[in-house]
Amino acid sequence: MGRATEALWAGERSGHPFGAAQMPLVPAISFGYDTVESWSDVALNRAPGHIYSRNTNPTLAVLEEKMRVLEGAAAAVSFSSGMAAISNTLYTLLRPGDRIVSVTDTYGGTNRIFTEFLPRMGVEVALARTHDEEEILQEIAKGCHVLYLETPTNPTLKVLDLRKLCAAGRAVGAVVVTDNTVATPVNQNPLALGSHLVVHSASKFLCGHGDALGGILCGSEELVHQVFAYREINGAVLDPFAAYLIARGLKTLVLRVERHNSNAMTVARFLQEHPAVEDVFYPGLESHAMHAVAASQMRGFGGMLSFSLREGYSVSGVLERLHLAYRAASLGHVETFAGIPATTSHVECTAEQRAAMGIPERLIRYSVGIEDVNDLTADLAQALERP
Ligand SMILES: *Cc1c(COP(=O)(O)O)cnc(C)c1O
Repeated sequence: MGRATEALWAGERSGHPFGAAQMPLVPAISFGYDTVESWSDVALNRAPGHIYSRNTNPTLAVLEEKMRVLEGAAAAVSFSSGMAAISNTLYTLLRPGDRIVSVTDTYGGTNRIFTEFLPRMGVEVALARTHDEEEILQEIAKGCHVLYLETPTNPTLKVLDLRKLCAAGRAVGAVVVTDNTVATPVNQNPLALGSHLVVHSASKFLCGHGDALGGILCGSEELVHQVFAYREINGAVLDPFAAYLIARGLKTLVLRVERHNSNAMTVARFLQEHPAVEDVFYPGLESHAMHAVAASQMRGFGGMLSFSLREGYSVSGVLERLHLAYRAASLGHVETFAGIPATTSHVECTAEQRAAMGIPERLIRYSVGIEDVNDLTADLAQALERP
């Protein structure tokens, strides 16, 4: 079945309590049994069911099933946030003395795990420059337990060649983890391109409405179960109400992402022609350094772009003149959001770290919503009219 069909029906085919024609929101933290025998059967995994919501919960199960299917995975597990999914995955896979390879341009919070928390645990972290594929391959070839990828990156929309890098990671026996938040499973499926695991911040496109935090991990039964066992005890579990909102968001994911893709393409072309704009970063543009790779591994180019202003134009002036954008952190919501890396994705980093990551100071990150696109280009036109 197609993705739009799957997103609607996955986890919901077997019928809901009372014949309800929507998934149930089950806030209960525990589940009762009439006999000790049936209780034991569930507790000891001899029968399906739920015991305690820090372990499993029916509403979370619907969300996990939808994401499992959308990513083409054997298993999926949810978390209280994207960072919980990422940190629980890394802390499950890595031991003191292990080595991890990644790139300099990962999400700001992930970058902090690499620069601060993993070194403190005695894990060796090698961060290659994102645009330098040779450097990434050289670091992988030295050997690593985990290869951690993210593409397209946030906020400068760099693209990594997933087929090539996943194969290199597998060749040295690494577990390859890919953050697919910016692309979404509608546009890109890292597991099909060779990644062992895929992580998401569900707070972005998956939820889509900016009203629930969450995270998801998809992959093989074995690896997902290892991380699930860590999460069960360490407790970064998703709230059922948040799971309900995210699962509801997934029902329109395909429609929304198709609109995000086409709106972003139109806005990118508009900005590319605009005299106030120095550079536009969007993998759908032929001028993007990795456009061919993006086209070979993505079905659409996503809803996020960024652009830098020419000398003399004020970032805050342009941002503050926008009427149709929340000046706020986050991305992937139905409304347009705009911001600067220093207050959004890379608020965790110093100005020097941002410069080292190649993030221009006059950069605006623009998460294109699903508004009528002519309204967005008109809004940008008036905001860019003066310096
Ligand atoms: C937002 C984001 C995260 C972190 O997710 P939270 O849900 O905010 O914890 C991780 N990776 C990427 C690419 C993101 O955009």
